[in-house]
Amino acid sequence: MDGSNMPVNGGWRNVVRRWLDAALEALDALAFDGPDARAVALGLRVHRPARFVRVYRSPAFDTRTPCVPCDGEGVTARGPCRDCLGLGRVGGRRSVTSGTG
Ligand SMILES: [Zn+2]
Repeated sequence: MDGSNMPVNGGWRNVVRRWLDAALEALDALAFDGPDARAVALGLRVHRPARFVRVYRSPAFDTRTPCVPCDGEGVTARGPCRDCLGLGRVGGRRSVTSGTG
C-alpha cells in the first residue's frame, strides 16, 4: 500500500465533513425551530450569529439609545448605573442641551 489509490484532495474527509455539517444543521433546527417560531410569534427578531446560538431581540429595544453615563454597560465604577437603572439603554433619543453656565 503506497496510498496512490487514495482519493485526491482528501475526498472522503470532505464527504464526512459535509455529512457532519448537515447533521449539525439538523440538530440546530431540532433545538431551535420551536423557540424561533415562538419568538417570531411574540414579535421578536431572531438573529443567528452562529450554529446553536440565537439572539432574540425586541424591536422596541432598538428605539432606545445607549446610556451615556455608563456607556451602555449598565454599570459604572460605583455600581449599577442610576441613569438607566442598569439596563444600559435609555428610552428614545436623548437631546443634548447646552446650558448657559
Ligand atoms: Zn446607564
